[in-house]
Parts: sequence; C-alpha cells; structure tokens
Amino acid sequence: MTTHLSRRSLVAGLAAAPLAASALPSSTVKSWFASVDVIVVGSGVAGTSAAIEAASAGSKVLVLEMLPKLGGSSAMSGGVVYCGGGTALQKACGVEDTVEAMRDYILTASGLYAQTDKVELYCEQSVAHFDWLVAQGVHYQPSYTPAKGLPGTSDSLYYSGSEQVSEFADKIPAAPRGHVPGHSGWTGGRSLMEALIPAARRAGVQYLTGVTCQRLIVESDGRIGGIQVEMDGATRQLRAKRGVVLAAGGFIHNREMLQVYAPELAQCSVPWGNMGDQGLGIQMGVSAGGATAQMHHGFAIMPLYLPDHVLKGIVVNDKGQRFITEDHYHAFLGHDIAFHQRGKAWLITDKTSQYGYDDYRVTEVVRAATVSELAEKLPMPKDALLETLGYYNRHARAQQDPLFGKSREYLSPIGEAPFVAYDLSVDKAFFPAHTFGGLRTNLNAQVLNGFGEAIPGLYAAGRTSAGLPVAPYIASGISLGDGSFFGRRAGRHAAESRV
Ligand SMILES: Cc1cc2nc3c(=O)[nH]c(=O)nc-3n(C[C@H](O)[C@H](O)[C@H](O)COP(=O)(O)OP(=O)(O)OC[C@H]3O[C@@H](n4cnc5c(N)ncnc54)[C@H](O)[C@@H]3O)c2cc1C
Repeated sequence: MTTHLSRRSLVAGLAAAPLAASALPSSTVKSWFASVDVIVVGSGVAGTSAAIEAASAGSKVLVLEMLPKLGGSSAMSGGVVYCGGGTALQKACGVEDTVEAMRDYILTASGLYAQTDKVELYCEQSVAHFDWLVAQGVHYQPSYTPAKGLPGTSDSLYYSGSEQVSEFADKIPAAPRGHVPGHSGWTGGRSLMEALIPAARRAGVQYLTGVTCQRLIVESDGRIGGIQVEMDGATRQLRAKRGVVLAAGGFIHNREMLQVYAPELAQCSVPWGNMGDQGLGIQMGVSAGGATAQMHHGFAIMPLYLPDHVLKGIVVNDKGQRFITEDHYHAFLGHDIAFHQRGKAWLITDKTSQYGYDDYRVTEVVRAATVSELAEKLPMPKDALLETLGYYNRHARAQQDPLFGKSREYLSPIGEAPFVAYDLSVDKAFFPAHTFGGLRTNLNAQVLNGFGEAIPGLYAAGRTSAGLPVAPYIASGISLGDGSFFGRRAGRHAAESRV
C-alpha cells in the first residue's frame, strides 16, 4: 500500500477539497492525460473487486485513490463478509444452510427497503462468490465459534446478525453466515484487502494514490467517457473507453450532506469510516443525472456486548420502557436508539449483569443500593421504570419475555444490588455510524437516472451505491459482501461493454 503524500499535505488537501463539480462535456477536453478501458474511483473492496473482474476480462484498468493509502474503510473493517447457502466454509464447519433460508432472513430482517432482486441474486450466487474470495487469496480457517460478536480468535465462521433471535429463528432456519479471514485479532479487513489488492495487481490493474476525482466527463451521446482529477497539483482529464466505476465509499465525513440526508447519523458520537468518506462519488453520479436512494439509511451501532453477560440487563428509553430485545445484533439496537428513541437510552443492570469494569463504550451514570433509588436518579418517570422492572422480573423468573422474546440464556431477574445504569445515548456512548445511502443501480451496478434508465458507461458499487445494506443493518458482512459482489458485476459489465 503506497504513500505519495505527507500526512500534513493530506490533511490540508482534504480541508480544501472542493466538492465534486458538474459533469464536463468531452468536447471541452483539449487533451487526455491518459486513456484506459475502465477507470475505478476508490481502492476499497468495491473498487478493487471491480478492477479485478474488469482486468480479468481483458480490460486495461486504472484505480484512482484520493488518499495516500489503498484500501479505504474496507481495510479498516472487521473483514466480515456475509455469505451462505452452503459455502465451502459452512460445509467444512458442519453447518447446514440453504439459499432460501439466507434470502428469507435478509428479506425479513431488512423490511420494506430491501431490494428483492439484488438480495435474491446475491443469495443465489453467494457460494460462488465466497469461492471467488478464496481464489483471490483470502484465507479462512475452517472453524466455527458460537461466540456473540466478531471473533477475536482465528475462527472464521460465526453468527454475525440476529438470525438466532426468536423474532427470526422461530420462522427461518438459522445459520452462521459471518465469514471472517482466519487469524487472531480484529483486523480481518486488512487481511481481506491485503489479499485482494495484490490479486488485482497480478491481474494487471494499476493503482494511483493521491488522485482526487472530481468531475465525470460526458460524451455527446450521453455516455460517460472519462473523469477529471486533481493530481500532482494539476487538473487532468483521463479517458475511460468502457466505463467509470464509482466506488468512493459513503459520506459519513461530509457533515453538510449528513445534515441534509441523515441528521440522525450526524448525532452519533463516532463517524465510522476512513477520511475518504466525503460523498464525492455520490455527488459525481448525481451530477451526471444519477438518482439516489436510501440516503437517510446507515449503520448506527450501540456495541453493548461483549461481554455478553450485560445482555441480562435491560435497555430502556426516556419513558422508562423497554423497546427491543437486548440480545439483538448491536445495529438493531443502535438503529432503534438513533432513529426511534430520539437518540436516548440507558442500560439497567444489577450485580450479575453490570460490566464490572470501566468500559470505554458506555458511561456509568447512576449506582444505587435499591431499584427505587436508581429510578429516582434517572431522567425518566420513576414509576414507569419500576413498572418495567417489575414486569420484566416477573416473567424472567419464568424464563419468559412476552414483549420481545429475549433468548433464555440472557433472561434472569434484575434483583441483586448494586444496581447500575449506563448511558447509551448517541452523543454520550461510543456510538459509531456510517452511511448506506447512495446512487441507484441495477443488477449490473449501472447507475440509474430518475427514470430508471441506465446511464451508459457509469457504474457504482459499495457505499457509493444504494445496495443490500439498509437500516436497520441486519448483520455484519452485508456491506463488504454487497461491495465485493456488485463491484465485481460492475467491472465485468464495463469490460464487456461495446466501445
Ligand atoms: C471499523 C469498521 C469495521 C467495519 N467492519 C465491517 C465488517 O466486518 N463487515 C462489513 O461488511 N462492513 C464493515 N464495515 C463497513 C465497511 O468497511 C464499509 O461499508 C466498506 O468498506 C465500504 O467499502 P467501499 O469499497 O464502498 O468503500 P471504501 O472501502 O471506503 O473505499 C472507498 C475509497 O474511495 C476513496 N475515495 C473517495 N472519494 C474519492 C475521490 N473523489 N477520488 C478518489 N478516491 C476517492 C476513499 O479514500 C476510499 O479509499 C466496517 C467499517 C468500519 C469503519
């Protein structure tokens, strides 16, 4: 992963980074600095997957990266890819899964915003997509862990979503589908990109860092024929004969866009993504007539667990009421707090369910000898909280949660002093967020205009597009899975397009 810019010049450059500008007619281009078949904007999982496929199909491919390092947020990530339907790894771990179960979970959990055609295609081809990752050199360890949360061990398969929560498990056969590169630690994204980027280079892809893409260039027939960039202190035009793939990530670091499209995410305490998440790819697509979708969606995370014994506590809102089962995947919890509870929530615990140490993710706000004293000190109606606790404890003793169906392993009454409340609010807790909204695309990752027509020569993938991830986010691995899968389709379609 190369470095062309100093840290200081990078920060200065970003501060001064202009927004993407309107598309430029190719008739105004006096000379092309370079000419290739396919230009890919962004070197994360979506861009690199697009580049590999385009180059493998015989195209000359150039990947342009704004930052000095390659890999984007993908390289910072946990590296979980959501795959299923009987992958080689699932089989090696003795796990049974079907395409139908995977599809039903994604569609049911994603709710009304799921794009059924994309989900179905992704599930049907998931086994082959996993094989492709392995073929590029991503290494997986054939071992499964029942641990809740991203394994810090070398185990490669785990439940990365809410498949086991009764709301889904009662209707849909559950299976672990979080596929993580196999090594200790939480740096799976780095392993993923350290396999994919060399694979791209082996396929003949050229990477350039420190290049900020700013304007698409449009041919007289409406086809996207190139891109204008800032590089080495100069403005240059690069020709792309077969297409441009926008894979420039999302917009969690563009406060203005966040305020306009997803103000709930702007409240969250940690913008989660690399500094390239400025929304430039989305802006360029819009400037060429691209439509957007799901712009208010995002991954708002309240990482309550691990340790998972804290899930024996209850989470309440500012009315003193529970609103979710605490053992849901932490993105369901985060989404509910950020979007439906006005950003406020508290975890109520007793001696057995408290963290037991100072945890950076949450702030202890009240410690009390009785629940009455605890309720007195919290900013919610005291009687409502006591009622909530009484109702919860009564049923927990019978191993039941009639309201939300919490798993039995986390059901026990909250009754043993000391009682501790933690603030889980979006601006008080460690509450990461990133965006899901982006350009509308079809199954070949072609960018669609407002009439649903494909814009010739223009593609988008990963968080620059509105893809499989919707809010609430249903499982770790959907984003990298979507980016790599539809990135590949973009690269292949561009390479095979008529010049
Ligand atoms: C800590 C962390 C952990 C995560 N863990 C997981 C996980 O385990 N599984 C999962 O599915 N998701 C995970 N995510 C989310 C996931 O990492 C991202 O959604 C995903 O990496 C997006 O991929 P991408 O290719 O769209 O964008 P990126 O990987 O961000 O790549 C986009 C690249 O484009 C560059 N760029 C932007 N604008 C321009 C421009 N104008 N010109 C040139 N270059 C430009 C950026 O600098 C960047 O390098 C995690 C995120 C974080 C932050």
